[in-house]
Amino acid sequence: MNYVLPVSPGSSRRLRWLLALPKFGIILLLAALLSLLWLLHRNEAEEERSVLIKDVLWLEQNLRFHLDGNEEQFQQLALEIADHPERQKIFRVRAEHLLKNSPDIAQILWIDAGQQLIEALPTAPASAPQGPPFSAPSTSKAFELASRLGKLQYSEPFFLEDHRAFVALFVPIYRERKFAGMLVATYPLDTLLANQVPWWFTEKYKVEIIDDNDIQYATKTNIEGNSNLRHIIPFDPPGGGLLLRVTGYRSPDNTLQRLLVVAIFLLAAGVFWSLWLVRDLMKKRSHAEEALRAEHAFRAAMEDSLTVGMRARDLVGRVIYVNPAFCRMTGFAAEELVDRNPPMPYWAPEQLEETYAMHQTVLAGEAPKDGFEITFMRKNGERFQALIYEAKLIDGNGNHTGWMASVLDITERKRAEELARQQQEQLQFTSRLVTMGEMASTLAHELNQPLAAIASYNTGCLNMLDSGQATPQDLHPALEKIGLQAQRAGKIIRRVHDFVRKSEPKRAPCAVGEVVEDCLGFVEAEARKRHIRIDCDLPPLPPVPADRLMLEQVLLNLIRNGMEAMAATPEPERTLRIAVEIGDGELLVSVSDQGSGIAQEIRDKLFIAFFTTKPEGMGIGLSICRSIIEFHRGRLWAEDNLNSPTGSGTIFRFTLPLEAT
Ligand code: ADP
Repeated sequence: MNYVLPVSPGSSRRLRWLLALPKFGIILLLAALLSLLWLLHRNEAEEERSVLIKDVLWLEQNLRFHLDGNEEQFQQLALEIADHPERQKIFRVRAEHLLKNSPDIAQILWIDAGQQLIEALPTAPASAPQGPPFSAPSTSKAFELASRLGKLQYSEPFFLEDHRAFVALFVPIYRERKFAGMLVATYPLDTLLANQVPWWFTEKYKVEIIDDNDIQYATKTNIEGNSNLRHIIPFDPPGGGLLLRVTGYRSPDNTLQRLLVVAIFLLAAGVFWSLWLVRDLMKKRSHAEEALRAEHAFRAAMEDSLTVGMRARDLVGRVIYVNPAFCRMTGFAAEELVDRNPPMPYWAPEQLEETYAMHQTVLAGEAPKDGFEITFMRKNGERFQALIYEAKLIDGNGNHTGWMASVLDITERKRAEELARQQQEQLQFTSRLVTMGEMASTLAHELNQPLAAIASYNTGCLNMLDSGQATPQDLHPALEKIGLQAQRAGKIIRRVHDFVRKSEPKRAPCAVGEVVEDCLGFVEAEARKRHIRIDCDLPPLPPVPADRLMLEQVLLNLIRNGMEAMAATPEPERTLRIAVEIGDGELLVSVSDQGSGIAQEIRDKLFIAFFTTKPEGMGIGLSICRSIIEFHRGRLWAEDNLNSPTGSGTIFRFTLPLEAT
């Protein structure tokens, strides 16, 4: 087809670009996603950190309030019991009240200036310091400081035997500006955390009380694991190097976030994959396009080099395609023919009706399978014979979309065939003349007989008339015989005339019996001369469609060949037999001789023109016979005559169809 694929010089570069685009897209997408995630993560971490700090500050403040409150109450108690007359009662009431309000206080002790215990609440706690209560370095220093400075003081943390860590609050009691004792409140650090750190805090954080050396004194958490998200602030009060370390864990929301991240990555992978697929598809498409282009180029080259005209029409007969050969053949350009509806400009006007009828036949799908011949007209008005083969045009989906015709310009072939036919005819005619020439002396002799008879009858009649005695009755028989002999001579002349007459070959119902008899009339004299007996076996025969003259020529050739082949046969055996049988839809004619037979080595050459073994032979007889028989759609061949008494001989057989085909 005369379409052009969308191929531009830069198209492959563009395609490379297009193929690279998905890669860029993927890289950009991934980079954007990663930076987004990184930003989110950073924001989130910052937020978490700020929330953590806020919470830690809140916790620290909460603990400070609590401890400050307790301190105040202890100081108040220290003041009250310093010089109150019922100080022990007050101590008990207030201490009980304090213990109730602050369950994180394990014990409240009242000791005098000599470190002797005055009161303790609860009285014998399991966690009370054993032995001299404040001799341990961790507590004695605080005791001393508190007593000396007159200010409350927290001890360093210390462990008791149950491995629990404590801090002690020393509140000095002064009476008339003199140190009069000490109130000591012991705080188990774990209980402090247990009571003062709310549950929601431990759901999010792990709270630890540690010191500079990372020794853990107490901890409270509901969660496990490790995290870098931590904040440490001094735990003051009680101070003494204690630190509050709060470690934050990701909330369960983090799982959701992680899921989101995974989903994003999965989606990105999906996008990546689909882009990859697209890239693959594009690659495949480009390969397919290249293959198509190559195929197209190949087809175009093939189309251009085709010498057979191709024409495609759609189902309504509109021309949809013509190839260059068809354009050359008709002289019309493709643009003048494509999209045209009948009548086509190359239809010969004088055959418009037949051509249109053929066109309709083709569209009805009834075009002859072996093709058909039609006369077309070139643009310059010249007519040409076209041989057309029509076939269905099936598209890629298997649908019948029209008709494809291959068109051959057979004008030259026809001309050559016609020339060959004329030459063949001429040859046949010449051959007949040659045959006649060869038979001329025999025919002259044949003609001489009636003429001599006429002359002698005529002389006899004249003599009778001269004698004056002849009556008409006497003359009548002689004159009758003269007439008969004249007829005989006339017949011979007519036969010769018929045989050498030049005529167009035509097949018409023909009585083979008469043909055989005519031939015998020709060869009788010759057979007599050669001492040959001719046997003829002719059953009643139906007429066959044949050219009488041609058949006569064949038979005459075969009979004369047979007679010539028997030149060396002993005289009694010189018999030529002509037989005609009716076979299966055909007549079978045979001419058998008992002559020399045909040597194996020349058997294949018999029917080749100008092959002869005779010194004066022309060698065209059998070749003409075969083409005549084939013209009649029959066959001619030679066989050995196996029944010949001489042991040699040939049978030439040919067939003639009973019906014209
Ligand atoms: P021509 O008779 O002029 O030679 P033909 O074509 O009739 O040409 O025959 C070709 C050759 O075939 C003959 O020369 C002869 O050798 C051989 N031939 C033909 N008919 C016979 C026959 N009946 N018996 C033997 N040979 C034959």
